Amino acid sequence: MTKSEFMNHMAVQNPSQPEFIQAVREVVDSVWEVYEANPVFQAANIMERIVIPERLLVFRVPWVNDAGEVKVNRGYRVEFNNAIGPFKGGLRFHPSVNLSILKFLGFEQIFKNSLTTLPMGGAKGGADFDPKGKTDNEIMHFCQSFMSELFRHIGPRTDVPAGDIGVGGREIGYLYGQFKRLKNEHTAALTGKGVQWGGSLIRPEATGYGTVYMAEDMLATRNDSFEGKTVVISGSGNVAQYAAQKVIELGGTVVTFSDSAGYIYDPDGIKGEKWDYIMDLKNNRRGRIKEYAKEYGCKYYEGKRPWEVPCEIALPCATQNEITGDDAKMLVKNGCYVVAEGANMPSTPEAVEVFKKAKILFAPGKAANAGGVATSGLEMTQNFMGMSWSREEVNGHLRKIMTKIHDQCVEYGRINDNYVDYVKGANIAGFMKVAIAMVDLGVV
Ligand code: NDP
Repeated sequence: MTKSEFMNHMAVQNPSQPEFIQAVREVVDSVWEVYEANPVFQAANIMERIVIPERLLVFRVPWVNDAGEVKVNRGYRVEFNNAIGPFKGGLRFHPSVNLSILKFLGFEQIFKNSLTTLPMGGAKGGADFDPKGKTDNEIMHFCQSFMSELFRHIGPRTDVPAGDIGVGGREIGYLYGQFKRLKNEHTAALTGKGVQWGGSLIRPEATGYGTVYMAEDMLATRNDSFEGKTVVISGSGNVAQYAAQKVIELGGTVVTFSDSAGYIYDPDGIKGEKWDYIMDLKNNRRGRIKEYAKEYGCKYYEGKRPWEVPCEIALPCATQNEITGDDAKMLVKNGCYVVAEGANMPSTPEAVEVFKKAKILFAPGKAANAGGVATSGLEMTQNFMGMSWSREEVNGHLRKIMTKIHDQCVEYGRINDNYVDYVKGANIAGFMKVAIAMVDLGVV
């Protein structure tokens, strides 16, 4: 089968799943050469097997709101591949959630988890539930109903969900509370837990920190650093918040944050008390980013994304397909030469092409944001050992893991002395380990 025959077959088999096809195409483009050169992979039909999830769960999630009205949402868990370890991947609560999005995220997760060097398979799940505007009581009842089905499919050696968009510390608490109640045991079947009940220090920070560590390692290949650089960040959730904190620590100036309604631009830099304000706004008051502009008298751009702001470094940390081809051209034209994806697949294929053509330092999400799941892996290790490591210890592991991820990308993605294709490198490095494991495990 040729590559284009394979992709046509994929499109027929997965109708109305554009995000999933997009994610598969990106991996296939990178790994097809390796696949064709490897008769053992072909004999095991790895390519056709790896794009089909091991198991897909779809379930009804009924709940009652504070007004006493009965509501219902769709719950999902995509258990994609467990060749190298238990299924592992976050849960997303957002109205846009559907099978295409969760299959794309679950597929990406296979290679991301492989890159971390830890034994974790790939999965993703969630619901088309919108936490925005809901009370804590409503969130709790939704989470309890969601877990009332999910609990029978997960476990520390089977499938270990975590957070993602719309699922933070509060939601993990309610989900884990219900899991524990139904199972009658304190078993670490979720990560992102509170530190008082089995969570790991640095887990909340890990994805954002990891993204910045990846960019730091890329910059180092050009004897460069964050010092004095202007940094544009999208999103204002978990990943964006801690990416910003680490950038500030390394001497960069963060000038934007956004949410789905628009972005704020503060040329003086968002740090210190201003960063604290965002943490409180988003995590406690659950407000909108435009309130920052009012508080600090800076500009707010309704309905826009921050890519028009001149910068040297861009960290997309909101959602998929948030950088179009035109946005990418604008970034490059304005002098941006480092993009590290904190979000999953935030750059469209057209944007990725622009970055590759301009030969800028571009790290795809499956490498750049792998620090989150890596630290979830460290949380699992601590749970199995019955121990809690210090911040320094966990951060030390995270820092080393990000460098290992960077180095794998360089190993498989070096095009010449001056250029590394990190997309190709991440895809091939992640794929090789899983493909070899699938061959070893036989036709299962
Ligand atoms: P949060 O829910 O904490 O924050 C998400 C942010 O993105 C919010 O500011 C949100 O704005 C914005 N956003 C969400 N959807 C859209 C949209 N359609 N258009 C514009 N902005 C949007 O999520 P996280 O920070 O955890 O996740 C952000 C990204 O990072 C996601 O792609 C996720 O998959 C990825 N990721 C997260 C990891 C983690 O550990 N949390 C690990 C690896 C990847 P609003 O409030 O208006 O919705």
